[in-house]
Amino acid sequence: MGMLHLVHHPLYVSAGPVGGQFPWDKYGLLLTVLGETGPVTLHQPEAMPRQWIEAVHEPAYVAEVLELRVPPGKTRRIGFEVTERLAARAQHTPGGTWLAAKLALQYGFAANGAGGSHHALSDTGAGYCIFNDLAIAANKLVEEGDAKRVLVVDCDVHQGDGTAALLAGRLNVATYSIHGEKNFPARKARSTLDVPLPDRTGDDAYLEALTRTLPPLIDSFDPDLILYQAGVDPHADDRLGRLALSDAGLARRDLFVAAEAKRVGAPLASVLGGGYGNDRLLVARRHAATIRTLHDALVAAPAQPVEKAAAHPI
Ligand SMILES: [Zn+2]
Repeated sequence: MGMLHLVHHPLYVSAGPVGGQFPWDKYGLLLTVLGETGPVTLHQPEAMPRQWIEAVHEPAYVAEVLELRVPPGKTRRIGFEVTERLAARAQHTPGGTWLAAKLALQYGFAANGAGGSHHALSDTGAGYCIFNDLAIAANKLVEEGDAKRVLVVDCDVHQGDGTAALLAGRLNVATYSIHGEKNFPARKARSTLDVPLPDRTGDDAYLEALTRTLPPLIDSFDPDLILYQAGVDPHADDRLGRLALSDAGLARRDLFVAAEAKRVGAPLASVLGGGYGNDRLLVARRHAATIRTLHDALVAAPAQPVEKAAAHPI
């Protein structure tokens, strides 16, 4: 059985602003609960070099973040003030997504224990996202020859609008987003393929849409690396979700994405994405279940993937 490779950095974990609704310490809790599901090898990322951040973001915005002078309008769009610690975190998160991809190329699967900052746009952050780790990593991987064609599969309940906008027009990167149509962001961007879903879409309709739309894109684009934004906010109990997936539904989603990667022989790196609720341990367990499911399907001998999915209580 292969080892589960998780990218983590101490900067990922923060107490965060008092009373804020973003569950900062799910990143710390993830280490504990993922370790309870089996052995994990930790890898610590370095900060993403500034020139690779500037390769997808406006240098003027990058300077605002790194010099801690983000203007009030952008601070409101991001949802919190960019402190020195959060600016450093925002450089390490894309470093972590890039490292997870490099590990996936070596081992078949790896996860970044943060990231999925898919709302960050060229000249501003938005929706709790400062720098877009998916776009930064995809661009660097292609530019450095680690991959020929990178597909970003975004199953967070919110559209990957920033990723779509930042990577639009690139022949060697494609973006897929399946999301709540009525959810944030109000103004959607255009991914290579968007699959908008109505509020309260449940497991079966969700899986029908996913299994109908993802394989044709994978067949036509033929990725040799997949970056998976595996947000758990499509869950029925998620505070910001508005879809109605169960734990079993999320597991079926993850198993299908893993099976598609396996079908075309593409390594897969997952990033954390959204997941919101007062019970931070419960949210961390949902993320851990996703990572363990992906690992078992892609790396460990998949003895009984169907039983594994059924083992999740509904
Ligand atoms: Zn989300």
